[in-house]
Amino acid sequence: MLDLSADKPNTAEASRDEAPTRLRPAPLIDPFQRAITYLRLSVTDRCDFRCAYCMAEDMQFLPKRDLLTLEELDRLCGVFVDRGVRKLRITGGEPLVRRDIMQLFRRLSRHLKSGALDELTLTTNGSQLARFAPELADLGVRRINVSLDTLDAQKFKAITRRGDLAVVLAGIEAAQKAGIKVKINAVALKGVNEDEIAPMLVWAHERAMDMTLIEVMPLGEIDGDRTDQFLPLSVARERLAERFTLTPLPDRTGGPARYVRVEETGGRLGFITPLTHNFCESCNRVRLTCTGKLYMCLGQEDAADLRAALRASPDDALVTRAVVEAISRKPKGHDFVIERARPAAVPRHMSVTGG
Ligand code: SAM
Ligand code: SF4
Repeated sequence: MLDLSADKPNTAEASRDEAPTRLRPAPLIDPFQRAITYLRLSVTDRCDFRCAYCMAEDMQFLPKRDLLTLEELDRLCGVFVDRGVRKLRITGGEPLVRRDIMQLFRRLSRHLKSGALDELTLTTNGSQLARFAPELADLGVRRINVSLDTLDAQKFKAITRRGDLAVVLAGIEAAQKAGIKVKINAVALKGVNEDEIAPMLVWAHERAMDMTLIEVMPLGEIDGDRTDQFLPLSVARERLAERFTLTPLPDRTGGPARYVRVEETGGRLGFITPLTHNFCESCNRVRLTCTGKLYMCLGQEDAADLRAALRASPDDALVTRAVVEAISRKPKGHDFVIERARPAAVPRHMSVTGG
């Protein structure tokens, strides 16, 4: 007969102290006592757009054989969820262009049903949303980020090099119709969309969408020079403050954005300012690529290759150990400096590590 007595706490105090740790494995805590509760998973480095600040026109993508299968990605996510990750963001490249991607969402949605995960979400360029929004909503995806830097169709084509604004707008509409809350992410680009920030904000808030502005980051080589594109959000914010009343909000959505309420529109506006304001102190995130590399920081090169551990055994013990070991190396913060943007401060493109 199985003897469980050795596992039983022998005092009331031991039972109070030990029982919860037995039921739940220890959460992932980094060397700076930050709990890692947020995983961003890039399911592909491929994309149907070639945004000028993100990648070069002739971007070389990974050979498909290097990608982990959807089953493997699901297994890796499960390891993180078991170790206390509560929020999972699927990104890319463009996540919705990966073949059979809905299979992964179907599998991952079980963690929402079980209550192990608070949120399953995605960041998308919106090109495939009209097709997938209803099923995403059915699977429990409640909020998504759609990247959109302009409402001018020609400028949109120029920035994305191949996108169609009307298709993206239809995708956003489909998502909202399916009951998914949409947040617009816009990269602030000097001389490109800086005049559009205020009108886009009004447009988004009129449609019950929050908006977040992002500073361009020196990730990966592109065709131009990023110092030309860099618009500090402190400047964008000052300009907006001439026209709108911006009231700082305490809201955090688990990501790096700081929010204000725009009193005139009633909506929220977020600022992601890795360059003018360092947000690392409260970082709760790690990023996993489609090849199984775990990056502990978007702005650092150190990564743990989880693929070997994953494939070495069908049991999760090895890969869990590799994850714990990697988290023990999470650095205090990034060291982006836009003046050093050429060559890129970090050679990896955002489309590899995922936004
Ligand atoms: N393709 C999807 C999309 O565009 O939403 C998901 C991946 S994309 C890499 C994620 C986000 O990163 C987008 O909002 C995009 O604008 C942003 N991004 C890409 N390259 C960037 C860079 N160098 N600096 C700042 N943001 C960047
Ligand atoms: Fe593709 Fe997103 Fe990069 Fe644009 S920002 S090229 S949509 S991955």
